[in-house]
Amino acid sequence: MTMESALDTAREQLQRAVDLLGLSENDWQTLSTPRRILEVAVPLRRDNGDVEMYKGFRVQYSTTRGPSKGGVRFHPSIDMDETVALAMLMTWKCALTNLPYGGAKGGIAVDPKDLSERENERLTRRYTSEILPIIGPERDIPAPDVGTDERNMAWMMDTYSVNAGYSVPGVVTGKPIVLGGSLGRTSATGDGVVISSVEALKARGINPAGATVAVQGFGKVGYWTAIGLENLGLKVVAVSDVNGAVTGFSSVADLWKYFTDHGNLNMPGTDAMTQEELLHLEVDVLIPAALSDAITEKTAVGIKAKIVVEGANAPTTPAGDRILIDKGILTVPDILANSGGVIVSYFEWVQDKQNYFWSAEEVKSNLNEIMMRSFKEVENTATTKKVSWREAAHMIGVGRVAEAHKLRGLYP
Ligand code: NAD
Repeated sequence: MTMESALDTAREQLQRAVDLLGLSENDWQTLSTPRRILEVAVPLRRDNGDVEMYKGFRVQYSTTRGPSKGGVRFHPSIDMDETVALAMLMTWKCALTNLPYGGAKGGIAVDPKDLSERENERLTRRYTSEILPIIGPERDIPAPDVGTDERNMAWMMDTYSVNAGYSVPGVVTGKPIVLGGSLGRTSATGDGVVISSVEALKARGINPAGATVAVQGFGKVGYWTAIGLENLGLKVVAVSDVNGAVTGFSSVADLWKYFTDHGNLNMPGTDAMTQEELLHLEVDVLIPAALSDAITEKTAVGIKAKIVVEGANAPTTPAGDRILIDKGILTVPDILANSGGVIVSYFEWVQDKQNYFWSAEEVKSNLNEIMMRSFKEVENTATTKKVSWREAAHMIGVGRVAEAHKLRGLYP
């Protein structure tokens, strides 16, 4: 069995959309080429005085529809190819949701768990200063992703602002509220996954009340998804983190309390299971919300869920996807299901530009409107064109970027 990389997966999905849209070889060349790639060395002085070097990346895949936009990932296995793949996905996601952005991604090949708080701050600030010439509120706007959070965004915003000589809150999103963050941003990706799960259940004629769910990942996306679904009356039967999965807890709220107090999911009275056992549970909805390549040729075979909602980016390989389609499992693709994060990031950027801040209700209702609009567009395209929801989502996103390219023309 050959393992496809995240970049192979992203390019294969793009090729399929280009074919379905009947675009030309010239269009393929334009759409499959990242616009700007930066690799930087990020030196870190450890607390004990030693100096270590880390690799940092920033990829601006597209700026055709506006400034590029995408998260910053701190993870030991991140490399340039994966960053390009994730920046490509951001491009189609922003176009699908019709936000005035291109797509970007960045990160450092580091395990943040190996860093003290002060080391994390120094690394974040040095990375920011290395990529500083190419970011900015009108150029490229980073946000949190795996291994980073609002603290990192505060340091990035401060480093950029110190260099500019004045406060520039719009340079990053996912900031703390007191620094110009938006209400509702912390839970936004999970909120969007919740909307996608409920709507997908309705589309399949399943009553969401009491429907069963398994969630892989218990981080920013996994937690807010699980608690949001539980609050709506769905039954979350299992969750996992990097160390394994757990079932038999009475509520997500209780498990979260135990997890934040003890740093693990081994709550007394619960039963441990493997990641694979979680993926293979007989549930209505399976939500991969950790890393890419969770659903592969190997793991897809045993999946018994009726619906897969992709909270993570690129959690399903093309071979895994084909198996899900053959089994008649409905997959709500990442660029739709997890778009709530970038939608509320967009709201944060708009609020920062206007220095006028919205209520939590306004954020929620505007998020709901864009998610529902995108959801219906994907569902309708899948039905009318007789394609999968992933193909439909990519057709819409890629189609909008291709049209924008044509209208702008080629300089010179
Ligand atoms: P996070 O760092 O907050 O959480 C990641 C979770 O995955 C943790 O619970 C971790 O223990 C778990 N995990 C890590 N490796 C694992 C493994 N091998 N098996 C099982 N679990 C594992 O990250 P996050 O922000 O929640 O992001 C999760 C996914 O969602 C990523 O694919 C990310 O790109 C995507 N995403 C995040 C956002 C956002 O706003 N944070 C938006 C869109 C998409």
